[in-house]
Amino acid sequence: MEVKKIALFIIASILLLLGAIFLIASVVRPERIFVGGILFGGGIALAIYASKSKPQIVELKVSWDPSGKLTTEELKCPYCGATLPLPKPGQEFIVCPYCGRTIKLIEEPKW
Ligand SMILES: [Zn+2]
Repeated sequence: MEVKKIALFIIASILLLLGAIFLIASVVRPERIFVGGILFGGGIALAIYASKSKPQIVELKVSWDPSGKLTTEELKCPYCGATLPLPKPGQEFIVCPYCGRTIKLIEEPKW
């Protein structure tokens, strides 16, 4: 990307230099003004094209890589031992479908 831009600027400056030489030489031979004009114009166009910065897309990949072993924990009713349904986010209480008791969900810190 950056190398291509530098190359384009070098080509543009060569075209501008050649164009300038032809334009100066047109003093001696007037038909050279066309060649000089084309080269000079091409150089300017190329320089404008090269200076236009394209938006860069930066891709970020975030992955979760736990350092320790992963363990699963089943949510069980403390009264009857039945497996409890998955609580919804923000849900504080769960009613056990087997014994009918209300269980308060308390988040236990793991560290
Ligand atoms: Zn229960």
